[in-house]
Amino acid sequence: MGLFDDNSSVGKVTIKGHDLICPICGNDSFYQRTTQLNTAGMTFLGLDWANQNAFNYYCSECGYMFWFHPLD
Ligand SMILES: [Zn+2]
Repeated sequence: MGLFDDNSSVGKVTIKGHDLICPICGNDSFYQRTTQLNTAGMTFLGLDWANQNAFNYYCSECGYMFWFHPLD
């Protein structure tokens, strides 16, 4: 689809023992990418916890994207 051109690879994703299934189209293959959470706004507000990466998985069929925040 060309939404993202970075180092993505398609595959099944398991979160805490649960297979990730797209709620839109039922697909189980996802591309993976990470997104930095330390936006300019976050830095301005001094939110140190935001200086991390979120994990994104987006459906290889419809592009629906999941966001996972890193847990301590
Ligand atoms: Zn989908």
